[in-house]
Amino acid sequence: MQTFVETGLKPEILQALESIGFEKPTPIQAKAIPHLINSDKDLLAYAQTGTGKTAAFSLPLIHGIDEKSDDINAIILCPTRELCLQIERDIQTFIKYIPALKAMAVYGGESIDRQIKGLRSKPNIIVGTPGRVCDLIRRKRLQLGNINYLVLDEADEMLTMGFKDELDQILSACPSERQTLCFSATMPRELLRIANEYMDSPDEITAGQRNVSAENVKHVYLVADRSDKYEVLKRVADINPNIYAIVFCRTRMGTKEVADRLMADKYAADALHGDLSQAQRDYVMNKFRKKQIQILVATDVAARGIDVNDLTHVINYELPDQLEAYIHRSGRTGRAGKEGMAVSLITRRDLSRISQLERKIGKKISKKKIPTGQEICQRQLFSMVDKFVATDVNDDINEYLPMIEEKMEALSKEELIKKFVSSEFNRFLSYYKNSQDLNTKDRSKKTRGGKYSRFHINVGKKQGLDPKGIIGILNDTRNLRNIEVGQIDIMNNFSFFEVPNDREQDVIPALDGARYKSQQIEIELAKPKPSSSSSSNYDRPRKARFNKSKSGGGSGGSSRGRGRFSKGASGKSSGKSRSSRFSY
Ligand code: AMP
Repeated sequence: MQTFVETGLKPEILQALESIGFEKPTPIQAKAIPHLINSDKDLLAYAQTGTGKTAAFSLPLIHGIDEKSDDINAIILCPTRELCLQIERDIQTFIKYIPALKAMAVYGGESIDRQIKGLRSKPNIIVGTPGRVCDLIRRKRLQLGNINYLVLDEADEMLTMGFKDELDQILSACPSERQTLCFSATMPRELLRIANEYMDSPDEITAGQRNVSAENVKHVYLVADRSDKYEVLKRVADINPNIYAIVFCRTRMGTKEVADRLMADKYAADALHGDLSQAQRDYVMNKFRKKQIQILVATDVAARGIDVNDLTHVINYELPDQLEAYIHRSGRTGRAGKEGMAVSLITRRDLSRISQLERKIGKKISKKKIPTGQEICQRQLFSMVDKFVATDVNDDINEYLPMIEEKMEALSKEELIKKFVSSEFNRFLSYYKNSQDLNTKDRSKKTRGGKYSRFHINVGKKQGLDPKGIIGILNDTRNLRNIEVGQIDIMNNFSFFEVPNDREQDVIPALDGARYKSQQIEIELAKPKPSSSSSSNYDRPRKARFNKSKSGGGSGGSSRGRGRFSKGASGKSSGKSRSSRFSY
């Protein structure tokens, strides 16, 4: 299909598409739009972010809605507030020549009263996050009894984010004769259950291969020692003078730490994670959209729904626990026909995961060398000279020229160039002068982090936890049974425990969803304990050999030394406006 006219969409919609320069349908649109216009069968569509899926489901839905109806006709559910607002914005554009149609977004983090008021204006299309939609249904402010269309957008993400119960509630509140459209990049088992339960023999379409990453994303990885990772990240940023990237970390704490270090090193960076208030998130996102921030360090959850299309890089500072998340991460770049690069910074231990990922995405992930200081300086220098040559000359400068010429009279052309380059570039050169080649050393023997990895959990003495309790928690978890346990520190409201480095990867996935008594356990990788912890405790690891019945209960336990973890540490913006460390 070459044009939107061939899809049979209403003239008012075609006019809106023309006004925003949508010339021809993307592959998912070419498949979904005619299908939805001509059939009332349910639809299961496999599509990545950035493929044009918003228009793929919105346009036929707008085409099919009865403009005269006062009822809510369509509801679109999506995982995050950002995505919700982005879809609503797109729909407002698509309906701009159909004045009778109204669309409205409902999402958490904004006053529910304001949204209830908005609903009184009888919108035809609701875009909502599952939590807020459920809340409005419970309060009887949102009636879905007459809807014709239900769309689940990024359905797999909604499930990953824990909206299973909400989806069940909403789906059962909708009339059975509706048309259900489910858009998802992957098909986890729970989504298959939802499709079987709530969809009526859906047709399936795929844009690109399932689970396969976007076409124009190049995938590379760099192998570094854990202790060099931050330096490698800086080198990746420095070798790409115009970088505009999201750096993904697994935990909130890691996100804050990396962003804080980048900001301290004067990069135009900031953090986006779950501890930020909505206002802080908006502030950071605004700056990122305006490119005042070049490097956004984010957790997977916080980065969902980010509507930025021209990212040059997605950087995996840490590989995600779930392989699916890699696809979502890398789908943030290479969007809307642009080229992008997904860069994973890994340690040697992660090598096996790279081959798993290659199988999953059906593409080669190439090994790249960590750039040397000299390579970086060369790239930066050329970028600077190119910018210099391309600079527009302001004629107002003419009146000062005689004075400038007089001052520079004694300099030859060569000296002039050298001085100019040095004034801009000396800091850079001195930073990378004598820098090590991080590829060549066998650095695996270095022991800076100790041989244990330390974890923080949100349960402590107050919840009745003691060392036995921690060992019990680990023993109750299939993949951690009998794991060697290093030092345990129990604080009032949280605790730390250590496991051998080579089991670090196993801990967070294994404890995902685990509880202590009735409390949900939240776990994060913590910094190694400062030097005092490298004492005899490391020599006498304890074995987790208590059985299930002994877990929990009791009190006391070691209270030595406070962990450096600080939950309240702010990752908010530094407020600095300098665009980057080396003023590209
Ligand atoms: P989406 O996957 O819906 O988030 O869309 C990704 C980007 O592609 C958005 O910026 C859309 O505005 C843009 N887009 C979607 N469909 C088209 C089209 N047919 N022609 C040009 N751009 C499009």
